[in-house]
Amino acid sequence: MVFGLLWVIFGVTLIKYPIFYDSRHGIYQNFSQVKWPLGSGFIILGVVFIFVSAKMKNNITDNFICPKCEEIIDHSGEDEVFCPKCGTKMEPLKGFYERHPELKEKSENPN
Ligand SMILES: [Zn+2]
Repeated sequence: MVFGLLWVIFGVTLIKYPIFYDSRHGIYQNFSQVKWPLGSGFIILGVVFIFVSAKMKNNITDNFICPKCEEIIDHSGEDEVFCPKCGTKMEPLKGFYERHPELKEKSENPN
């Protein structure tokens, strides 16, 4: 997602400022002649990348964790998940230890 955005920004920057000059390294590049095909190419690439990664994100399964026995499973979809071991309603792993800092301490210091 971020990479796609960078491509778009790069393309827009190229169209806006086609002359690139790095005084420290003595590099001088003039993209004025090709700024439209090159710049719009980057923008299209970036937009495609953003769409593809957004679509892929929807198909990725989320990890769920049991707050009771800390069993972790993969699960896709919006419906509720229950722990296969103890039957407790599971929570998304993402942000779980932020919501339950006491469990984080326990898993970091098992003794
Ligand atoms: Zn459990």
